[in-house]
Amino acid sequence: MSSGGVPSAAATSSSQCCGQHGSRGHSARRAPPLAIHEQEVGVADTLQLEPLTEEAFVANLQQRFKRDLIYTSAGDVLVSVNPYKKLALYSLDVVEAYRNRPILSHLPPHIFALADKAHWNLRERNEEQCVVVSGESGSGKTEAARIVLQYVTVAGSGPSGAQQDPALAPIKLIRDRLLQAGPLLEAFGNAKTHKNDNSSRFGKYLDVEFDFKGDPVGGTFTSYLLEKSRVTRQLAGERNFHIFYQLLTGADIQLLKSLKLHRNIDNYAFLRPSRPLSMETIDDKRDFQVTKKALETLGFSAEDVVQIFKVVASVLKLGNIGFTPTSNIDGTEGCTVTNDYELFEVCGLLGTNPMELTSALTQRTILAGPVLDSPSTNPAPPPPPPSCGSLRGVKSGGCSSSAAGTPPSFVPSSSMSSTASRDVYEVCEMLQHSTLARLTLADERGSTSTAGELVVADLSASEATASRDILCRALYSRLFAWLVKQVNDATRVRKYGKRKVLGILDIYGFEVFEQNGFEQFIINFCNEKLQQAVADCTLRQRQEEMLREGIEWTPVDFFNNTPVCELIEKNNHGILAVLDEESQRGGPGGDESFLARLCHTCGSSAYFETRNCAPHSAPSDLPCNTSVPPNCFRLRHYAGTVTYGVTGFVDKNNDTLPLDLSLAMFRCEHPLLKNLFPEGNPKRTTLKRAASAGTQFKISVGALMGNLQSKTPHFVRCIKPNELKQPRIFENALVQHQVRYLCLVQTIKVRKSSFAHSESYESFLHRYKMLSPHTWPSWRGSAVEGASYLLRDLPLSSPHFAFGRTRIFVRGERTVAELEEFRRQR
Ligand code: ATP
Ligand code: MG
Repeated sequence: MSSGGVPSAAATSSSQCCGQHGSRGHSARRAPPLAIHEQEVGVADTLQLEPLTEEAFVANLQQRFKRDLIYTSAGDVLVSVNPYKKLALYSLDVVEAYRNRPILSHLPPHIFALADKAHWNLRERNEEQCVVVSGESGSGKTEAARIVLQYVTVAGSGPSGAQQDPALAPIKLIRDRLLQAGPLLEAFGNAKTHKNDNSSRFGKYLDVEFDFKGDPVGGTFTSYLLEKSRVTRQLAGERNFHIFYQLLTGADIQLLKSLKLHRNIDNYAFLRPSRPLSMETIDDKRDFQVTKKALETLGFSAEDVVQIFKVVASVLKLGNIGFTPTSNIDGTEGCTVTNDYELFEVCGLLGTNPMELTSALTQRTILAGPVLDSPSTNPAPPPPPPSCGSLRGVKSGGCSSSAAGTPPSFVPSSSMSSTASRDVYEVCEMLQHSTLARLTLADERGSTSTAGELVVADLSASEATASRDILCRALYSRLFAWLVKQVNDATRVRKYGKRKVLGILDIYGFEVFEQNGFEQFIINFCNEKLQQAVADCTLRQRQEEMLREGIEWTPVDFFNNTPVCELIEKNNHGILAVLDEESQRGGPGGDESFLARLCHTCGSSAYFETRNCAPHSAPSDLPCNTSVPPNCFRLRHYAGTVTYGVTGFVDKNNDTLPLDLSLAMFRCEHPLLKNLFPEGNPKRTTLKRAASAGTQFKISVGALMGNLQSKTPHFVRCIKPNELKQPRIFENALVQHQVRYLCLVQTIKVRKSSFAHSESYESFLHRYKMLSPHTWPSWRGSAVEGASYLLRDLPLSSPHFAFGRTRIFVRGERTVAELEEFRRQR
């Protein structure tokens, strides 16, 4: 799916590369290559735009877009408009031009310039950096993140450095692995949607670690909630994850045979909804080779690769398993597997026996009967499955649960009393037996007063189908998490010594479909948080800093999305908290009850609406829809209004895997499955109930925002020029909408009347003291005095600086560059 970017280090030859090995620094001057000579088209840095209006800003982007100038500066922020075509913007010549650029050069705005600044800060200022790429789905974030990664991994020794110097071979290996992780994770985590043919269905944050020379020595990927519902269901015209199609079209016949797969996509129920599709932008056959190469580079053995594909193939084949309803003697409904041959083949791939898998798919073991002990520290139990199925034979056992009628799919808290914990292990063991032989389990301890009852229930055909889908989603998403872990093992830093970190964030973009569910809610919440962080940095903090430091300042208004973030994440009263309450309550009608509670808790918010409760007031610039469909709630996000259907919210938030299934998976001989389903191990001693999916996501996004705020940020705002995913089309209204919600004009306004750089007097003096005989070699007075002496000795005019209470402010980037140039000349 790659459409551009810096040629990979592997593809670099010395003849192609015009860099000088080890010549990092700004001393190697050369004329920029032709490709980056920019004729003056519009305004490259919109700080110079006059008049500064939204219309003028969009017209300027359009003018530049027509001439393939997709990058434009908006103060510190880089705006990138997706060209939807390959551009000659990323050749090695261009890399070298930006890598060795003279400090006071006038190179056009480019993502390399932004990446170079981050890398330079890392080396020279010893500050941790991060590049935050944002924009809606299809705007070019993943491409931009890839280009940044490609640039920063060669910015130290240069593209050809590792090629020429054997001592740099470990760097080349890490570089290759970091770069190959992208295509691998995209194969398993990206899919075609209506918005984007290569849409990221997970969030990705990469911390790249560098040595003191600025060469990469390792990296750590963090992934955020994969949209696993796609495994079993896609909207018409969308696709499942790329890897399924890659495997079927790209694998050789022997591999397909060993995986019991056919080449024909139509054979697989989980892939059928995606037909018919125009495949112009996707070459699955070629991409399969790319994925295989990535696996190899990342150190996966041939055996690992086969095991990975066995899991992928099992998911496809499980999707074909159907269930036929049967009637039990007592009149209740059960079911049998319709197509035994598929089941047989899945068992062959996973290393289990058909009886065991059939039981796990068609029956559910649940706890019923009197409550044992219920320690107050216990988490509330999750609800029973949508329906507990029909009970078949009541088996009493010495098992513990915090509530009667609860399926033992919950994982008990480690804080339970030892008695209670032991009981749960007994349940696990009993379940294991019951899965095998459906034995009647007697309460061996004979303590009838505290006994719960272990009940095996037959599932109806539709319940078994739902159970099958839960298993497929778990298999796939856990495989994905395992892959990320393996990638991290392969890119782990092995070299000791001082290291510096540069983070790159590429999340799933804001999206609105005709039908939006839990997944869109999570994705859009993540974008909302990111928007809040960017606005905080580029708009709020800057303005607050001026006020705090006593600098004269005209405030700039901007759309503050904090109320929407709070509406979603506030403890106890936010949408996620209400969802958790409902998820813990259990019982039927959870989604409807969640909606009713939402209405009660969030109904007064101006950003929230349901059919039964409209906002009390609405911001005038956001259109207010009055009719919300039943079973839906509507949120006014920073990027637009989205209507979410609540069906499935509670189940998806609970995200519980019945213990019958985890036990069955753990017992498989497939070597990965013990790893993927640790809770299926009856001997496990650290069983702990996981937080809900929504809460886990909230916590991890909170940690991510904290991480970003601890680093010096560099922002890339990606813009989608049209909904057709076509080159040369610039839809004015669509771009204007994005420019507005990204607050780009306000960002420039703030930047225009503020300063490019601010720094404490101490650190300023420390860096530039050699520029003045008054401050060199040491200055004994106050730092602020030292800074003012220093500036008096420099040929820079005073309007370029302002003295705050604790910090010095430098007006323009150019002045910062001049200071650096003076320093370099020393
Ligand atoms: P999502 O949020 O859905 O993951 P995204 O913002 O990550 O979307 P990308 O996948 O990066 O979007 O871009 C969508 C497509 O646009 C790419 O597959 C590619 O075809 C094209 N594209 C994006 N950026 C560029 C670029 N700089 N040069 C050429 N084509 C590009
Ligand atoms: Mg993406």
